[in-house]
Amino acid sequence: MAQSAKEVELREREAAQRRRAALDQIRILGDPVLREKAVPVTAFDAELGREAERMVAVMRDAPGVGLAATQLGVMHRLIIYELEEDDPRALVNPEIISRSSATEVADEGCLSVPGGRVPVERAIEITVRANDVTGRALEFSSSDFEARVIQHEVDHLDGVLILDRTSRPARAEALRAIRDGATEGGGI
Ligand SMILES: [Zn+2]
Repeated sequence: MAQSAKEVELREREAAQRRRAALDQIRILGDPVLREKAVPVTAFDAELGREAERMVAVMRDAPGVGLAATQLGVMHRLIIYELEEDDPRALVNPEIISRSSATEVADEGCLSVPGGRVPVERAIEITVRANDVTGRALEFSSSDFEARVIQHEVDHLDGVLILDRTSRPARAEALRAIRDGATEGGGI
């Protein structure tokens, strides 16, 4: 059944409201929390599961493809990402235990960094060791975009942002855009 124009308008308005509410929760460049190192998770309890679920909701509403707990001011080593619809992944205490020497430069955005996307060099393939939210041990290889997202989010857990990994001109341009009033980031 076709949606009426009114239904479409209502849905768009609701999405915009959820987006604003999500962005309100995300810490933005300049917040010292983004520069802190997160601490390992030790309790794999229901609380952790709820924390991951809350992150997924914020990420979807923002919208973005990944989020680190530190971006919400929670200093846990916990990241989530979702590359395909209805397939959110949560990694607890993620560690990148190997990186390919082959790298690729691509533009990356960040919900915590207003000022647009900047080129960032990342390893094309990585091996990751982590736990899921129940504490089960995981180890897997990842490549291309997924590997990029994981490297981006793990950086957040160490207080590292895309501006630290981009070229000097791109960094200067992003900082200029922020000075000129850009307030929203986007992307990962
Ligand atoms: Zn980010």
